[in-house]
Amino acid sequence: MDHPRYQGPVIDAHCHIDGAHRHVATAALAAAGVDSCLNLWNLEWPPPSFERWSSEFEGPTPVRMALGHAPDLSGIGAVAAERVEASIRAAARAGAAVLKVWKNLGLTLYDERNIRVTVDDPRLDVVWRTAGEVGLPVLIHVADPVAFFAPLDDRNERLAELRAHPDWWFGGPGMPAFLELIGQLDRVIGRHPDTIFIGAHMGCYAEDLRAVGEMLERHANYLIDTSARIAEIGRQDRVEVRDFFIRHADRILFGSDFSRTRNLMQPETRAPADEHRYFARQWRYFETAERGLEHPIPVQGAWRVDGIDLPDEVLAKIYAHNAARVMPALCASPGPDGGNSGGA
Ligand SMILES: [Zn+2]
Repeated sequence: MDHPRYQGPVIDAHCHIDGAHRHVATAALAAAGVDSCLNLWNLEWPPPSFERWSSEFEGPTPVRMALGHAPDLSGIGAVAAERVEASIRAAARAGAAVLKVWKNLGLTLYDERNIRVTVDDPRLDVVWRTAGEVGLPVLIHVADPVAFFAPLDDRNERLAELRAHPDWWFGGPGMPAFLELIGQLDRVIGRHPDTIFIGAHMGCYAEDLRAVGEMLERHANYLIDTSARIAEIGRQDRVEVRDFFIRHADRILFGSDFSRTRNLMQPETRAPADEHRYFARQWRYFETAERGLEHPIPVQGAWRVDGIDLPDEVLAKIYAHNAARVMPALCASPGPDGGNSGGA
């Protein structure tokens, strides 16, 4: 697919593809105008070991692929922390590009005494420190949309979705508040300046880019990805959103959250025509000044968005240069025409 304006390479820094879908998914990415992808994890919990996960991706695929390592943080304690540390070192040696941490941390992950583990639990410091030592950025998803923490009534803008997926709602008694989780993330990033953190989904707080901008300014080791949040940012003031992308152009990675696994088929991208539309809408949002565009994930809201028409040099950074800079393993993985594309 041709991009509306942009000419250079594109790295999609947020995908979920399992071995069974590796050919169809990477062919779809290639057709959509993506050259390389960061395949984070197959969305299975507990996650597979990096050894098992990477064994699913031997042989060439239509786009260059690097892999994330999702550590199993279950039952965290002194012994479990050692096990996780060893898994991070092994994954780095085997060519992982990034450490992927899921949103169950802080929400539904419990320690060996069945107490909820907070994002800033000191027992996890070894995880963040080790990632920094071996040069793996931590791509972390904390909390979820703000509405998933709000009362489940007519004023909740994601009510229909939450009714269909009751387990997505975190507003019940005993659950942490949204901002408490963001605060925990903020403290972890501040405590580990030698580790690079990438906040998934517009820094996990797409509803408030001012707060995200403040976090980026506070922490030089913090970046964000754009995955699955064009609906959220697209309804904020178009000029302010554009300014945000230009001001933080070195700290934002393009990611789609394109998912092709046994565990999740994004409804937006089930058929090839849908895949095409899913990416085309993202390119139009970033590259054109068109008004009233449909955003890529209609289930997240019926409103329309206005393209932010980013300058070419900003697009180049967001689409490719930033990801290549912070994840050298992504570029070291063999290209599409040969060898092991598993990021080894
Ligand atoms: Zn994702």
